[in-house]
Formats: sequence, structure tokens, C-alpha cells
Amino acid sequence: MTSPSADIAVVGAGILGLATAFELQRRGARVTLYETGRPGQGQSAGQSRIFRHAHADPRLVDYAVTARGIWREWSELLGQDLIAPDGALAIGPKVADQHALLDEHPGVDARLVDADELRARLPVVADYDGPVMLDAGGGSIATLTAIALLSERLDEALVRDHVLSVRQLGAQDVEVRTGTGLRHHDAAVICAGRGTPSLARGLGLSLPVEQGAHVRVSFRPRTDVPSLATLQDTSGAFGESGVYAAAAEDRSRYGVGLAAAVPVGEDGTMLAPEGLAEHVQRVVAYVGRALPGLDPEPLDYVHCWVTRLPWGDDGVAVWTADDVALVAGHNLFKHAPALGRDLAATVLDGAVPALLRPENRLGEAVAS
Ligand SMILES: Cc1cc2nc3c(=O)[nH]c(=O)nc-3n(C[C@H](O)[C@H](O)[C@H](O)COP(=O)(O)OP(=O)(O)OC[C@H]3O[C@@H](n4cnc5c(N)ncnc54)[C@H](O)[C@@H]3O)c2cc1C
Repeated sequence: MTSPSADIAVVGAGILGLATAFELQRRGARVTLYETGRPGQGQSAGQSRIFRHAHADPRLVDYAVTARGIWREWSELLGQDLIAPDGALAIGPKVADQHALLDEHPGVDARLVDADELRARLPVVADYDGPVMLDAGGGSIATLTAIALLSERLDEALVRDHVLSVRQLGAQDVEVRTGTGLRHHDAAVICAGRGTPSLARGLGLSLPVEQGAHVRVSFRPRTDVPSLATLQDTSGAFGESGVYAAAAEDRSRYGVGLAAAVPVGEDGTMLAPEGLAEHVQRVVAYVGRALPGLDPEPLDYVHCWVTRLPWGDDGVAVWTADDVALVAGHNLFKHAPALGRDLAATVLDGAVPALLRPENRLGEAVAS
């Protein structure tokens, strides 16, 4: 066990590194947060993300409930609501199973709703008469605000430098070499997103991380709208069966993307260079059919690498090598407060919470 006032390095200031550094500070640790560029520039970039409780793995539903509780706590601590009250909508054939799972959970307010409620929560949507679920505690995450407020709190801890290597030299002696420096810490947490597997290799770990590329396109509502719930569309009713959408904090734009990633080689080569442009075309066509309340002219784009574990799109795990913890997975923005707390506990208390150990394959879809 490391002392609570331990000196901990966190590598990467995406949402997970920020969350971990914040939770470490709250537990009294001294933190150095290394970031190559701007906090939030990597996979955490962009104006919104979906918070949803619905996951195919019931353990991840529990985890999302925990994360939602800490988002509330952070909203109070940081003085700003970080999840919009408009809710999270899901449409399509998976809704019945998703609802059955969420309905069993006392911490989740999810219900099947009719077309009127769909239209009230998401006034930009086209007519749809299939099954709809509302997750009232879900909604768009105010990503820019969350990154900005956490970065502000961690300003003194931030070292803007690229980490080349992390090595364990002895008990509670972890060496971090950066472009222009060399420091020793009691322990380290690596939250470097796409950079995590290469730092892991230096520690003798081979993480089964697969890379892909994603694009999220933003559109402006044609009129002011009182609500813009997030949307998870697996229906196929509008020509696509895997679409995600979330709103910017001021509801001035709605970001829409396909769930599928564009394939990327191990060395980061885009295997089909036209892939991102094709996804944009599909998203624009989808908006024309499914979201006629949006102006179909794209306002902006977020192009991002994504990292994924082989057991599912929502898979997540934490590895350790002596005093170093490493995290990898996909769709983790929503879980960041819970992961930050668990990663802080991993290095301060000396053990990965069982659920997050790789052999437990958290986020694996359960056959229904
Ligand atoms: C388009 C898109 C839509 C998404 N939608 C959702 C969603 O709706 N809901 C959801 O929950 N999740 C969603 N996700 C996933 C979610 O955004 C990511 O899982 C999450 O942001 C990952 O955060 P991170 O901190 O692990 O990684 P990153 O944000 O990538 O942070 C890693 C940081 O480490 C830094 N770094 C890397 N290597 C080094 C090094 N050697 N030295 C120093 N710094 C280094 C990078 O510069 C970067 O800032 C989406 C992702 C994308 C791309």
C-alpha cells in the first residue's frame, strides 16, 4: 500500500487522466500529470458524449450507476451541471432487452415511451413508431466544461511534455522520462489512450488494444429547441443500424456519428483512407432521413483514433505492473469518474478492483 500523500505520476490528460489525477488529489496524493499536448485533445475531444446506463453487460450497468453518482458529486464540487437533463433515448430492436435489464436496477430511471415523448425529448427527430426507451438519468455530457474545470483544478500538477518511457526501478520507485526531463515517483497511472500500449510494452505488458478511427459530425437545429436528448439508434428504420448522437451543452449543435470504426492497422495506417469521408456521407444522409429538424450542412467534425478491447465496444480493463496501473477500453467518457476513483485506489491501496481485472472482461456483451 502506498501512503495517501504519495507522489503519483499520471500519464495523459484526457478525461481518464484528469479524472484519476483529480481523485488522487482528493485523497491527498501529490500528482504530476504529464500531457504531450492540450488536455482533452485525444479521444476525449469534441463538444459532447453520451451518458447512458444501457450496456449489454449488467456489471457495466452497475458501473454506470456508480459513475453517474460521482458525476453528480463532481457537478456540485465543480459548480456546474456536467450531464444535461434531457435524457438518453434508444430506439430499435435492442430496446426491449435493454429496458428489461435497466428495469431491474433500482438506481436507474428507464422507461418505454411513446412517439409523443420521443418528439418532446428530441424535437428534431422524424416520425418513428418502433420501440423507444428513455433513460431519464442519461444525457449529453458537457465534455468541454468537464475537461476545462478539471484542467483548471490540476493546472499546477500539469507537465506539458511527452512521456517516452515509464520504468519500475525498485519498490515505489517509478522513473518517468519525458522529452526534456526525468523524474521519479512512488507509482504511476497510464491513461495515454492510443499511447498506452507502447508505454505498456516498455513495462513488459502486451495489451490487446485494437485501434480504429471515428468521425463525429455536428449539425445545427433549424430552430431553437427546449430539449435535445441523446440518441442511440439501432433500428435500421432510417437506413443505419448503429448511430449515436449527443448535444452540445447549449443545444446549438447535435453531434452524430456511426458506431462502427474505420479500420486502422497496428502501426496507425488508415487501411481505407476514404473511410472517414464515406462515414461523413453516410451520417449526412442519415440526418436527412432521421433528423429533419437539423440543417444537414455539417458545422464541424471531430476525427479521432479510438482504442477498443477485443471483447466488446464497451470493454474496459486495468492492468498493473508493480507500482504502475494502465487502463484501456472504449466508450469510457461516461465511466471516467468511477474509473478515476478506481485507478486512484489501485495505486494508493495496492490492488485493482476485481471487476476491472482483464480476466473479468468487463463490458463483454452477454448473449440474449
Ligand atoms: C467520436 C467519438 C465518440 C465517442 N462517443 C462516446 C460516448 O458517446 N460516450 C462515451 O462514454 N464515450 C465515447 N467515446 C469514447 C471516449 O471519448 C473515450 O473512451 C475517452 O475519451 C478516452 O479517454 P482517455 O483519457 O482514455 O483517452 P484520451 O482522451 O485519448 O487521452 C489520452 C491523452 O494522453 C496523451 N498522451 C498519449 N501518449 C502520451 C505520452 N507518451 N506522453 C504524454 N501524454 C500522452 C494524449 O495526448 C491524450 O491527451 C467516443 C469517442 C469518440 C472518438
